[in-house]
Amino acid sequence: MIVILFGPPGSGKGTQAQRVASSVGVPHVATGDILRAEVARASALGREAEPIMRSGKLVPDDLIVRIIESRLGESDAKQGALLDGFPRTLPQADALDAMLRRTGRSVDVVVSLNVGDDELRRRVLQRASIENRADDTETAFEERLRTYRDETAPVLDYYRGAGTRIAEVDGIGEVDAVTARISDALAGNSAGVVV
Ligand code: AMP
Repeated sequence: MIVILFGPPGSGKGTQAQRVASSVGVPHVATGDILRAEVARASALGREAEPIMRSGKLVPDDLIVRIIESRLGESDAKQGALLDGFPRTLPQADALDAMLRRTGRSVDVVVSLNVGDDELRRRVLQRASIENRADDTETAFEERLRTYRDETAPVLDYYRGAGTRIAEVDGIGEVDAVTARISDALAGNSAGVVV
């Protein structure tokens, strides 16, 4: 099963993705985590990505597509994956489709986590004080939100147009409650609005 967890920065994708991936039984594949690991070990890729991530902009599509292609080729991803933070642009969505088609697969469902801008701001600035993430400053956050609106939000319309199942889930509330809504939506129950 290929699941995309979709949502703006600060919508709780990372937290929810870990929980949902283990219940679905597929690996959690987060491009942001893979990039941060590359930055931490100062690889060539990490050195290229670091200033871009710090600014809140997106790293180049070809680089991300190579990362995903290699990750989805690993044996634990044969049964599927829960994608977190990918695809974030239309070319990435196209590349994912092509990649999956080659192995006779397609995206099964897109879970879209809905959280308003004020709540996103509050969460990200709170995370900044706890995790010390380089891109959780106010300026970088506003850039990430703008990038999300301009480049990433159209990806949802892309899947809508392709007839992919989309589950709209309210991302506000206790972590457990949101996880339950996502699980219900994945099971096709009514808690998430499935369109
Ligand atoms: P995240 O942890 O998903 O919020 O990602 C942190 C940062 O990594 C983003 O702001 C981007 O700079 C970069 N990044 C992560 N995933 C992608 C992607 N799919 N395409 C381009 N850049 C990405």
